[in-house]
Amino acid sequence: MNSLTSDNLVKSDIFPIGIVRDERFLEHKTGHIHPEHPNRLKAVYRMLDAEFGDCLIPIQAEPVPLEYLELVHTPLYIEKVLKTAEHDFTSLAPDTPASAMTYLAAWLAAGACLKGLDALVSGRCKACFSLARPPGHHALPDRAGGFCIFNNLGIAARYALTELGFRRILIIDWDIHHGNGLQNLFYKEKEVFYFSSHDMLLYPYTGDWEETGEGEGSGYTLNVPIPRELEEKEFLYLYREILGPVMQQYRPELILVAAGFDAHHQDPIGRSRLTEKTFRWLTCLLLDLSAKAGHPHILFALEGGYHPRALAGSVKEVLTSLSENEARQIFSHEKKRRATKMLEKVFRIHAKYRVWTD
Ligand SMILES: [Zn+2]
Repeated sequence: MNSLTSDNLVKSDIFPIGIVRDERFLEHKTGHIHPEHPNRLKAVYRMLDAEFGDCLIPIQAEPVPLEYLELVHTPLYIEKVLKTAEHDFTSLAPDTPASAMTYLAAWLAAGACLKGLDALVSGRCKACFSLARPPGHHALPDRAGGFCIFNNLGIAARYALTELGFRRILIIDWDIHHGNGLQNLFYKEKEVFYFSSHDMLLYPYTGDWEETGEGEGSGYTLNVPIPRELEEKEFLYLYREILGPVMQQYRPELILVAAGFDAHHQDPIGRSRLTEKTFRWLTCLLLDLSAKAGHPHILFALEGGYHPRALAGSVKEVLTSLSENEARQIFSHEKKRRATKMLEKVFRIHAKYRVWTD
């Protein structure tokens, strides 16, 4: 028994997991030295074939319909993305290149999340993971950036609110970068609660403690900047102590996970301390908290993660935990003074909103 976990393991034999994969995501070419390279997804797909065979429920990606894309992005920007098809190689932002087929991959990556939501709502699966690229959490209504073109999960959240009738959505962003695009989209709304842990020394340098939402959305944005040297146990402790009350008091009907894996210790960009196993315990914790909060639907969407082997290994741990329905309370017995101080700070800043701190 790992010292991180208690023995209150809940397992179910039937916990169907949907998976979106599509070779067309590999057609978004970014150049040989770009970190957001098709090899990332190739490594994940190889892992799926080797480890999961036909255990996962395949969900077919389809391009996002224009009416849903326009829930988030401006017509002018959508046109700009479409026009990249006229060039073999161009760029939408200094760090976000595009090849001739990039537009199709971007349309599919956004559509993949909608198909995942449909599969969850119809009962085809209990959780779903969209393994697509380009990623999305930095994309703004009129701008690409941080390797992101369309805000895949932002579009999914808007679709869930307007088309599927959800009223409370929790976004959990565990990518090492702050999801500025996601935060901006829902900053003034209470129907979407955005939680992010990230290293503020990295792009896009936003997501400070005091960024907590505005107007009706005050208190519904929760940022936890984490130091690079934060240990796994501290990380899990913070997630348990914050997301536990958030889920109990906000009672999300849907959880969207911006699942980036660039906080892995081998990641060339993130340079943090987490391991593949951290993502397993994180998923266990999420399942445990979800079970206690009425089993909201859960959709994961791939964001960052730039060491292909570490990325594939981390996705494997998430899927293993999901497919075994490992709902575990995560405990940490080590000294955690730094994490306790961080937790106190979060409560101090958020107590006045009384959204989840009562
Ligand atoms: Zn990232």
